[in-house]
Amino acid sequence: MKFKELPSVKDQIKKCVRCGRCRTVCPIFAEIKNETAAPRGHVFMVQMLRDGVVEPDNSVYERLGNCLLCETCSTFCPSGIDIHELNAAARSYITEQKGSPGKHLIFDKLWCNPALLRMSSRMMWGAQTLGLQKLARTLGLTQLLPGDLPQAEKILTQVPRRSAREQLKEINPARGERKLRVGYFLGCGTDLFNPEVALAAVKVLTHNGCEVVIPRSMKCCGLPHVANGKLGTARELLRHNIREFSALKLDYIVTDCASCSSALSRKNLQFVLGEEEFSRQGIHFADQVVDLTVFLLEILKIDTKTLKMAGPFRVTYHDPCHLAKAQNIRQQPRELLKLIPGVELVEMVDADRCCGGSGTFSLTHYDLSSRVLDKKMENIKATECEVVATCCPSCTMQLQHGMARHQYPARVLHPVELLARAY
Ligand code: SF4
Ligand code: SF4
Repeated sequence: MKFKELPSVKDQIKKCVRCGRCRTVCPIFAEIKNETAAPRGHVFMVQMLRDGVVEPDNSVYERLGNCLLCETCSTFCPSGIDIHELNAAARSYITEQKGSPGKHLIFDKLWCNPALLRMSSRMMWGAQTLGLQKLARTLGLTQLLPGDLPQAEKILTQVPRRSAREQLKEINPARGERKLRVGYFLGCGTDLFNPEVALAAVKVLTHNGCEVVIPRSMKCCGLPHVANGKLGTARELLRHNIREFSALKLDYIVTDCASCSSALSRKNLQFVLGEEEFSRQGIHFADQVVDLTVFLLEILKIDTKTLKMAGPFRVTYHDPCHLAKAQNIRQQPRELLKLIPGVELVEMVDADRCCGGSGTFSLTHYDLSSRVLDKKMENIKATECEVVATCCPSCTMQLQHGMARHQYPARVLHPVELLARAY
């Protein structure tokens, strides 16, 4: 669908009453304190883009790029405007007019091909001894890649040698009687950077009677593409994943990753595929997708009688934006943590405030992202926790970077990793 015809662009902009409520909650506006960086300013900018008052060029993209797509503004807007969707649609419109070879290489080629993506992460693992910055310079990649790669090196410090796909089978049988056949949507972040989360998830699911299918043909959920002006590629990825998972006759599709479950939700499918295509084929698929903590707690109702002590750990929970704001999932991860013997859950102030990670944002906007992170770290440190639990690999990487940056020795784990220790 054309940019100007998108429902958010066509119908929603006119609902903005310029009340400024979105500004009061935006973590980026809190740092930049300039109207052009405010959600309201973005709405106005998209309107000007739509009406041809400004050209779809890099300067407009850069202004709109000062946004985490965290959805906080959208949840607070009294007019119900999906501000993050407007922003993503505009980024895509500009990228269509002014695409860059680096973006094309990364998002249309590399990030659509799981084997190539795995090979790149293996190169990164190898590069850890040489230094990513040095390797990238040697290969001339600094000319091609968006953002500040030398800074990104600080975040991509711990690339595991083997991905989750390399460690897990395609079909993982249930222990004992099979209750459910479950597809596991293994996102790129968990697969390549946090494989231990996937191992823990499969352990807990199979222990509780699930046969876990990890289709080798699955690809990225498309959220990094939505964030980087590649809506068309995101659409292709969604179509592919819907086709592949639908052929498997599954009872549910679970994912440990907040970004993946929000990318595969009804709301995002409607936005990326368009209402007409969504109605034809997206509904059943979207309704099968469940966040792992919700699935374990409310659908599977896991066996807690045999749990052993996993701690003692003083644990605080960080709400990923794509779980709390995009899907209103807040209580289930906490309830799950409370079930684990040895876990003492302590709440931090503003637990649902963005950590500044937001997928590729921390790579493309390192300094700004770090300023948002520093605020989160102060709230984490005040809890005196030993573990920060969260349900998103992007948040995990960002918070791990925060621990190193602030020399605070807490570990960052998915709740399912603590749960797996108790079985
Ligand atoms: S909260 Fe909504 S209506 Fe108010 S200024 Fe922001 S976008 Fe406009
Ligand atoms: S999505 Fe988040 S960062 Fe972007 S404008 Fe809205 S509140 Fe600010």
